Amino acid sequence: MISTPHPPNAAQPNSGPSPTVGLLVSGGLDSGILLGKLLGEGRRVQPFYVRAGLFWEQHELAALRRLLDHFASDLLRPLVEFEMPLTDVYRDHWSVTGRDVPDAATPDEAVYLPARNALLVIKAAVWCGLNGIDELALAPLGSNPFADATPEFFHGFEQSLNLATTGNLRITRPFAPLHKNDVMQIGRDFPLELTFSCIAPIAGLHCGVCNKCAERREAFRRAQLIDRTRYAAAR
Ligand SMILES: [Zn+2]
Repeated sequence: MISTPHPPNAAQPNSGPSPTVGLLVSGGLDSGILLGKLLGEGRRVQPFYVRAGLFWEQHELAALRRLLDHFASDLLRPLVEFEMPLTDVYRDHWSVTGRDVPDAATPDEAVYLPARNALLVIKAAVWCGLNGIDELALAPLGSNPFADATPEFFHGFEQSLNLATTGNLRITRPFAPLHKNDVMQIGRDFPLELTFSCIAPIAGLHCGVCNKCAERREAFRRAQLIDRTRYAAAR
């Protein structure tokens, strides 16, 4: 009998019909839709959430848990949460204090969080390496204006990580070729009201006036989808 040697880290997590894909998911529109898309394609998904101590996090995480409950199936593995506290680094940044949060009038560049994607990826990447997962997916769009969302960044970071871990992780961005409206159409039959995008939530609701709420409202409007989000403030 001829036996095919298994790669050293391909044992349990990747047994079954398709390899497990790790997914960094904030529970916002893009990553929430990517979650539903991957599961719809029959992929096994290992979701990751990174707690950094940011102002909106507890509401975002609560929403994410409701979204994961909705998508619960044999393909969806339990959420893994990482602690990556950044309050010591970001200090009095609006993302920590909740003060002077960029509003709808600010350009998208205003919501840049320094090195956000590098910080999100690193623990998830190491976890994947230790648990036999060779693909880590994120949901940035090609239109993302930030330096740490470019193909050059992800390619370079992937190479550095694999050098550091002697691993073979692929960082994939299935939505990179797409525009927001394309993504919204992929998710048009998902319960998008369970996703959460706000950086200044009020009593657990989307504030309705921050930069991210404005982007969210515009995404629904352009996609001609009913926005069932509950906003604290009317438009
Ligand atoms: Zn908001």
